[in-house]
Amino acid sequence: MKVVDIRTDIFFHTSYRSQDSGGHSHPGPGKRVKHALLRIVADDGTEGYSFQHPEQLSAAILDSYVRPVLAGQDPLARERLFDEMVHRQRGSGGRFNDRSLSAVDQALWDLAGRKAGMPVYKLIGAYRDKILAYGSIMCGDDLPGGLSSPEDYAAYSVKLVERGYRAVKLHTWFPPMPGAPDPKMEIAACAAVREAVGPDIRLMLDGYHWYSRTDALRIGRALEKLDFEWFEEPMDETSMSSYAWLADKLDIPVLGPETISGKNRSRAEWVRHEASDILRTGVLNAGGITPSLKVMHTAHSFGLNCEVHGNGAANLALCLSSANCDWYERGLLHPFLDYEQPPEYLRGIVDPMDGEGYVHGSAQPGLGEDIDFEYIEANLAR
Ligand code: MG
Repeated sequence: MKVVDIRTDIFFHTSYRSQDSGGHSHPGPGKRVKHALLRIVADDGTEGYSFQHPEQLSAAILDSYVRPVLAGQDPLARERLFDEMVHRQRGSGGRFNDRSLSAVDQALWDLAGRKAGMPVYKLIGAYRDKILAYGSIMCGDDLPGGLSSPEDYAAYSVKLVERGYRAVKLHTWFPPMPGAPDPKMEIAACAAVREAVGPDIRLMLDGYHWYSRTDALRIGRALEKLDFEWFEEPMDETSMSSYAWLADKLDIPVLGPETISGKNRSRAEWVRHEASDILRTGVLNAGGITPSLKVMHTAHSFGLNCEVHGNGAANLALCLSSANCDWYERGLLHPFLDYEQPPEYLRGIVDPMDGEGYVHGSAQPGLGEDIDFEYIEANLAR
């Protein structure tokens, strides 16, 4: 089996999100934006697919760093191809980044699943066929009836529990929202949600790396009193010592790292230095499924849970194939957005959730995305 073609289709779809100056997503008016479908084709006709932002899959990136590694090679040789792409990353001057690498790795896994006629999570080795999801609430805003106050978070969390979620994670307010970041606002939102949903719903807070050690400690101690499940990314992750300091002082599990570079190797250092109580990986930030499995297995070897960052088919495959992962991150969720509605380029959502709060793996071969090729063909950006 040999790779005979690697190409990208750039197409338009409708997005209902807008981004603030800090890069955080909020609900927005529908607008046409570009997206990219990566396609890897083998000589027997098997194809593998993944989606990514068009900039990460530009012709220059594919020509310089992807085709020279993959063309003519066995697409099932994922470990070797991954190592060779990482080698080329080093010489790319930052142009071939982990998100581009992740897209290629995901497409190779999708191709392998389609070739084998089985879902990727079963190809890896299934641990389960369904997993509990937490509702991951989008960060705060100033939209009336949106997420502009602790009361808004409380009311929306009650709706999520009614939908079936047995856990809810908050992202609260970040700059440029007025007054943010502020430990008092953070704690007020968490307290309002705990009060509203009662003691039996699991709650998590994602601090999103803004705080000093002392502010993070203060928030963490408040979360302990509110019986939160974990405290995620409260500080800048490039300071591993700060995380070791915080994890040592708090009883509530500190979770990370989420966005740090270095794939499985930087995360292994966090385990060695006991910088977090629950490890974190995800296909986008850690460079794909291949390095994320190494992160998962390192954590497992040391008796640690490793929770997966982000939604989507590839992250769900990681969750379903790992013993030491308890939750799937479903979101981001907002009162003004309909998460159950698939994007126009898919025929269904990849993470359907039942009334008990479980997300089920797809029986479809590959990553399980039901791609609407006709839509993509009809909406190509030419
Ligand atoms: Mg996070």
